[in-house]
Amino acid sequence: MNNTPTRLLIHGASGRMGQALLRLAAEDSLLQVVAAVVRKPPAQRVVDGIPHFAASELAGVPAFDVAIDFSLPEGFDPVLALCAERGAGFVSGTTGISERQQAALTAAATRIPLVWATNFSLGVAVLAELVERAALALPGWDCDIVESHHVHKKDAPSGTALTLGEAAQHGGADPRYASLRAGDIIGEHFVQFTGLGERVELVHRATNRDIFARGALHVAGQLVRRAPGQYRVRDLVAPPA
Ligand code: NAD
Repeated sequence: MNNTPTRLLIHGASGRMGQALLRLAAEDSLLQVVAAVVRKPPAQRVVDGIPHFAASELAGVPAFDVAIDFSLPEGFDPVLALCAERGAGFVSGTTGISERQQAALTAAATRIPLVWATNFSLGVAVLAELVERAALALPGWDCDIVESHHVHKKDAPSGTALTLGEAAQHGGADPRYASLRAGDIIGEHFVQFTGLGERVELVHRATNRDIFARGALHVAGQLVRRAPGQYRVRDLVAPPA
């Protein structure tokens, strides 16, 4: 068994997800954060023993095995390019990326192992499967996806809602979307199938964003030994025994 810690770069380190990643990585002896990247030049160069870099200093970060990116679409390209250049793994949860950026992921996957996912929680992976099964079993029913998030979230519908919509489409449904931005909601996804005189409702509520950070850290640890390619969270999470 290889007990060498996986060396991580955390990109978007001052954000809500970045802070959760730094806190949870510190609790895992098999992970070592070697660089934290923040958008603007940091006030402190070293925080809790971790060197901090501005986004403009990305080229100068030390060697790492996997970068974890939870930033914004404008921060996505440079960190993906750096991983491809250095042969490092790439894990990104940044939502709202463009088609061009999706194509860049596909191109980079010929050189490095990577995961881009709109949601790193196990519960949402299960919800997507349930939505697809419900859509298959309920042909002709209306399908509506309502997502709620905190007021700071920029993209709408959420990336997770779009992922659930794809699952519904695989099952033959034609989903519609609605988005609510209110207070400090971490993330709720409600999928409703409506027939004549009856409804089926499926819902996932995130009550703590640590679920996403734990999932991303787990996936990063799994990615190190993988061949180049684009993996799904489901490919790297062992099913419960
Ligand atoms: P946030 O606004 O708290 O943090 C975003 C961080 O990115 C900030 O620290 C900002 O300084 C940094 N940033 C912005 N532009 C940058 C750039 N050019 N270079 C480097 N850093 C830059 O947001 P958050 O709640 O932490 O979410 C971050 C992203 O992750 C969003 O896209 C959000 O939708 C997504 N998200 C995904 C999941 C998932 O499971 N996939 C879960 C939660 C959030």
